[in-house]
Amino acid sequence: MTDLNTPRPHRRIIVGDGVAAAALAETCTAQAGDTLIVVGYKASQLGRGLAYVAEPDENPWRYAYLLNSPADDIAPDFGQWVVDNWERIHSAMVGRSPDWLGAAQTYLDCDDKRGLNVPRAFFGEYMQQRSRRAITTLRARGVNVEIVDDEAVSLDQDDDGFRLLTASGQCIYADAVDIATGGPKTQRIEGDDGPFCAPELFGHEERIAEHAKRGADIWCIGTNATMLDALRLCQSVVPEDQLRFTACSPRGIMPDALIARLPRELTQPELAGPYQSAKAFLEDVQRNMQLAQTAGHQMREIRAGFRAFFIKHGLKRFVPDLHEARLVPSTLRHWLRGGTRDTLHDFHRLSLTNHTRVVRGAVSAIESTDDGVNLLLLKDETDALVPYKAGFVINCSGAGSAFEFDPLTRSLIERDWISICNRSGGIRVGEGCETSMPGVRYLSPATTIIGDEVMPMPLYDAHLLCTWATRANEHLAKA
Ligand SMILES: Cc1cc2nc3c(=O)[nH]c(=O)nc-3n(C[C@H](O)[C@H](O)[C@H](O)COP(=O)(O)OP(=O)(O)OC[C@H]3O[C@@H](n4cnc5c(N)ncnc54)[C@H](O)[C@@H]3O)c2cc1C
Repeated sequence: MTDLNTPRPHRRIIVGDGVAAAALAETCTAQAGDTLIVVGYKASQLGRGLAYVAEPDENPWRYAYLLNSPADDIAPDFGQWVVDNWERIHSAMVGRSPDWLGAAQTYLDCDDKRGLNVPRAFFGEYMQQRSRRAITTLRARGVNVEIVDDEAVSLDQDDDGFRLLTASGQCIYADAVDIATGGPKTQRIEGDDGPFCAPELFGHEERIAEHAKRGADIWCIGTNATMLDALRLCQSVVPEDQLRFTACSPRGIMPDALIARLPRELTQPELAGPYQSAKAFLEDVQRNMQLAQTAGHQMREIRAGFRAFFIKHGLKRFVPDLHEARLVPSTLRHWLRGGTRDTLHDFHRLSLTNHTRVVRGAVSAIESTDDGVNLLLLKDETDALVPYKAGFVINCSGAGSAFEFDPLTRSLIERDWISICNRSGGIRVGEGCETSMPGVRYLSPATTIIGDEVMPMPLYDAHLLCTWATRANEHLAKA
């Protein structure tokens, strides 16, 4: 006879294979007898996701894409991993273009490998190893862990719990589901799918490389991290003296380079509050940033310092009014924007010989011609539309405001299990990342509100995502 007092084993599904899914699995509360099923396109490479993917050996851009911050800022023990795996990293990078080891030399001279902007593929390897260790630990604890390389196509709920259907026709049952399917896609711009255009960078590398090699002048819509990746891609297939690369955006402003220096310091913000308004809070943040700059701090120290501060204290304590707090992220996102040191330095160096340049203006039309593209750029300052010619255009303009999410996220929004915050522009979930459907949790970089906490800095940051995944599991353990 079944003892009704004995809690029945739990079955939890995690959908996704990136950093968020890995962190949810690593800190999950499953006990002996429970089942954890990870469903992702590449769940067997859990932790890599979209950003830290393993490119095939033969691709010249295999190790071209770099982390945007120094190794010891991205995960507490990743700096040490780089030190421990240095020989392998070094031999993989010898002779590669762009010359990553050359750019690393000043750091190697003072034995500061932890300060390097490491190729993202290595961070993927580190995350994958971490996930494997976590799964081994769970199994040793008696948890039945299943890894399913598949696409989750639908999630439904009935009296018995949840039913997840996969593209290969598997039907997986569970009493709890975590959705960690990543952020929204790049916004589309009319005409970006023409013969001389790529609607996004990732997945279109081969075609972009072909055009860069034929000598096309490459235009990137956007002056952000993806544009920096596009430059690295071009550098990996074209000698620098043949490169013609333009980045454009409405403000034409590049991010500040995140430069690790020794000794590693963090800005220590002195914010008292509570502040009545977002405006008052932001004024004090700005004052703190100016003080930090006067004391000699650069964006790396400031950004990492504010991130550590907000992880510890949250925003609610300073701006208790949720309505006001929701006005903070869109400004802080710009103020604390930082980018990859190596690539920003390369961009600047190459601009001195006119191989790279920044053009200010918002692309309002892309028109394909027989041998390239005509672009119309709207200049804010004059309100004039100015024509330009390009050999090939890459849309790196980011997600925009009309977020285009993956189908599973869209289905949660349509059913009101999660909602879009019209002020912060991101996804709003409950305490512990719970959705309005009990048993379903959601975490992605586009999450801007968790319970009554507004994320002051975007979760497009591996360390912040891991932090909030851990907190979600701690919340569950307490419930
Ligand atoms: C190109 C790029 C570079 C970045 N660089 C940095 C950096 O240098 N430093 C930093 O801190 N942050 C960086 N970020 C921010 C990044 O968003 C986070 O660090 C983190 O990788 C996001 O993890 P995630 O698990 O939420 O999403 P993702 O990495 O997107 O993972 C979600 C995964 O779920 C899979 N998936 C989606 N739908 C389904 C489905 N229905 N069924 C099965 N699987 C599905 C997707 O294929 C994807 O692999 C970068 C992001 C990108 C996109």
